[in-house]
Amino acid sequence: MNLHPYHGKTIYFGTKHEKDRSLKEQFSAIGLNCEVVEIDTDSLGTFSGEVKRIGSVQETLRMKIKLVMDKMPSEDLFLASEGSFGPHPTLFFANSNQETLMFFDKTSNLEIVSSDITLETNLNEKTIKKNECYQKFLNEIKFPSHGLILQSDSLLIKGIDNPDYLKSTIEKIFKSADIESIKIFTDMRANFNPTRMKFIGSVGKILINKILTLCPGCSSPGFGIVKHLPGLPCRDCGFATNGILFYVLQCPKCGLQEKQKRSDDVFYSEPAECDMCNP
Ligand SMILES: [Zn+2]
Ligand SMILES: [Zn+2]
Repeated sequence: MNLHPYHGKTIYFGTKHEKDRSLKEQFSAIGLNCEVVEIDTDSLGTFSGEVKRIGSVQETLRMKIKLVMDKMPSEDLFLASEGSFGPHPTLFFANSNQETLMFFDKTSNLEIVSSDITLETNLNEKTIKKNECYQKFLNEIKFPSHGLILQSDSLLIKGIDNPDYLKSTIEKIFKSADIESIKIFTDMRANFNPTRMKFIGSVGKILINKILTLCPGCSSPGFGIVKHLPGLPCRDCGFATNGILFYVLQCPKCGLQEKQKRSDDVFYSEPAECDMCNP
């Protein structure tokens, strides 16, 4: 069997929040080393809002890759990650976490991207008043295994994961100044958020599968799904629904496309999802 073109090589991952923890092992399982390069990703925007993010996810990822390339000018494989949080785009009122990973091969100018969205996130915030009990909220956001951020007036303390420190800090703030309320919110940086760290790992799995799949036309790595096509028939009436029927796979190098029928043994949509049976 031929070895993958990247076998034994090192990918330089630009991160500040230990995100390599969820990816290192997966890469080494396929014969790739993953080395962290510390870059100041906060200059491109922070979750707590001190620095506003500009540009699309893809643009931000390219900027991150550029920061790593500038630090490692003689290397050729790079990785960057970007997460976003907020209401789910189609399921209203539900918070979601979208993660995107971008791999870049400088020698062949090849970009491989994987992205996924999950409802599994503790994203939340609460404003508390003096003497208000906030324990229920702490349980909901999985504190202290998941970190949080305190904010009041000009004060912003990030990465709190110690219950005693949290309690005494809140007491101190209310005592020291004439402050009406303090805002507590979840710290979404991966090193303070195991739920997010785990999800980055699963998006890493999708990326690795893409890297491992070579284009049937030009043999470039990165052949993978770029589009879902609807049309899965309704179980009752056979009408074509919005359920996925085909995938479109594409090569990031030569652009070759292939249409594949879904292969996960799902042959029908439920009538509840059908515009004919359930208009
Ligand atoms: Zn190709
Ligand atoms: Zn139907």
